[in-house]
Amino acid sequence: MVSRVIPVETFDLVIFGGTGDLARRKILPGLFRRFLSGQMPPEARIIGAARSELDTAGYREMIAEAVAEFGGAETNNTKGLQAFLERLDYVAIDARGEGGWAALAELVRSDVVQAYYFSVAPALFGDLAERLHKHGIASAQSRIVVEKPFGRDLESARDLNRTLAAHFDESQIYRIDHYLGKETVQNLMAVRFGNVLFEPLWNNHYVDHIQITVAETVGVGGRGAYYDKSGAMRDMVQNHLMQLLCLIAMEPPGQFEADAVRDEKLKVIRALQPVENHHIVRGQYDAGKDGPSYRDDVENARSFTESFIAMRVHINNWRWAGVPFYLRTGKRMKARSSEIAVVFKDLGHTIFEGDEARHRNILSIRLQPNEGMDLQVTIKEPGPGGMRLIDVPLDMTFADALGAEAEDVTDAYERLIMDVIRGNQTLFMRGDEVEAAWRWTDPLIDGWEARNDVPKLYDAGSAGPEDALMLMHRDGRKWREIKG
Ligand code: NAD
Repeated sequence: MVSRVIPVETFDLVIFGGTGDLARRKILPGLFRRFLSGQMPPEARIIGAARSELDTAGYREMIAEAVAEFGGAETNNTKGLQAFLERLDYVAIDARGEGGWAALAELVRSDVVQAYYFSVAPALFGDLAERLHKHGIASAQSRIVVEKPFGRDLESARDLNRTLAAHFDESQIYRIDHYLGKETVQNLMAVRFGNVLFEPLWNNHYVDHIQITVAETVGVGGRGAYYDKSGAMRDMVQNHLMQLLCLIAMEPPGQFEADAVRDEKLKVIRALQPVENHHIVRGQYDAGKDGPSYRDDVENARSFTESFIAMRVHINNWRWAGVPFYLRTGKRMKARSSEIAVVFKDLGHTIFEGDEARHRNILSIRLQPNEGMDLQVTIKEPGPGGMRLIDVPLDMTFADALGAEAEDVTDAYERLIMDVIRGNQTLFMRGDEVEAAWRWTDPLIDGWEARNDVPKLYDAGSAGPEDALMLMHRDGRKWREIKG
C-alpha cells in the first residue's frame, strides 16, 4: 500500500555546483532514485555546471562514482544507472566569468520546465541570477533553488533577498530547508489537520510543554572554518528548529496551499517572545575518547562559538500562552536523534487507588532514526494483581502499518526537487519568513556576543552541558532521553 508515483512534467534541471559535495552526495543520487521510480520522465535532463574543466563523459563518470558511493540498494541497477547517466550533460562555467554561458543557453530547452539549482556559496547567487538573464537563459517561468545558509543575520538575508528579487519573482524562488522535506514532518501536518483527535487538544489547556531535539553525533568535521563563524544558533535553530516549531505551533491554514501555510508559519515567528538570558544555555564539546574538542576541531583555541544550544521559548498568542517550547540541538551528542515531543498535561484527578505514578500522554514525532510517531498512553498492566497502570507507546511507525515498501521513505531532497518541478512552494521558505526568523535570532546572538558569553563545556558523547538539564529541572520537567 504505497503511494502511486505520478511522473512530473519534463524538465531541464541545471545544477550550478554540480561537482560539489551536496550534488554528489544528495542531489544526484536522489534524482537517480526518482528516475528509477518513474517519477523523473525519461526525456528530462540534468545539466551539471561548475568550474571544473570536465566534459559530459567525465561528468557522467563522476556521477556514476557518486551514486555508487552515496546511493542505496538501487545502485545495483546498472541498466537503470546507464539510462540515467545518459540524461546528464555538463557545462564548465564560472559564475563570475562569461565563458560557458552560450553553451548552456544552447542546451536548455525553452519548451520544458526549467529549474536552476544554486548549489554554490551564497556569495555567487547574485552572479548566477544576473548571468542567467544577461544570456537570455532564464525566463519568467524558470525556477531557482537556493541552499542554506540564507544569510548570517537579518541584513545579509535582506541583501540576498534583494539580489534574487532583482531577477526573479518570489513565486520562482525555492529556498530549501531539507527538514521540511522529511516524510514525518509532512505527516505531522496530516496527523494534526487530518484527524479529529489531536487538534482539540493542541493548545494550552491540554499541552504542558513541547520539546524539539535535534542531536548529532558528528562534530564539525571538515566544516570547522565555516561553522566557527556560525554556531548552532545560526546553523540549526534559525532554520531547521524554527521550521519545526512553526509547523507544530501554527494555526490550521485555510487550505494546504503554499502561501496559506507560509502565512501561518510567519505568524508563529512573529509571535515569538524575546528569550531571557537565563533561558538560553550555550555549550561547546570537550575532547572525548572518540575525538578532539571543538576548539581543536576548528583550530581556534579561544573560540566562544556554541556547538550546542538549549533554550526555552514562548509564543505570544491565545493558543500557546504559558506553554514553554524547549529547543535543543548539538553536535557530538550521545546519539543521532531528532524528535518533537508534545507532552500533554497530567490528569487533574486519579480514580485508581494506590496509583501514584505520574501518567502522561506524550506524542513523539521522530525524524530520525526510524521516522515515525508514537503516542504514549496509559493502560492496565496485564495479568492478575489488581489495577496497576503502565505507560505504553501506541506505535505509528509507517512500515508496520503500510507494509515493508513504506520503509523506503523518500529522501527529503528527492521530494523537494520534485516539488520544484511541480511548482509547489509549500515546503519552501518564503523570503519574509527567513527575514522574520533572523529578526528574532539577531538580538539573541548580539546579546551573547556583547557579553562575551563563554559556552559551557560538555563531554563529547553526552546529552549536553549540565546547565541544559537544569533549565528543565528548574521548571520541574525533564528532557526526553536522546536515543539512537
Ligand atoms: P562544495 O564546495 O563541495 O562545492 C561547491 C561547488 O560550487 C563545486 O561544484 C564548485 O565547482 C562550484 N563553484 C565554486 N565556485 C564557482 C564559481 N565561481 N562558478 C561556478 N561554480 C563554482 O560545496 P557543497 O558542500 O556542495 O555546498 C554547496 C552549497 O550548498 C553551499 O551553499 C552550502 O552551504 C550548501 N549546503 C551544503 C550541504 C552539504 O551537505 N554539503 C548541506 C546544506 C547546504
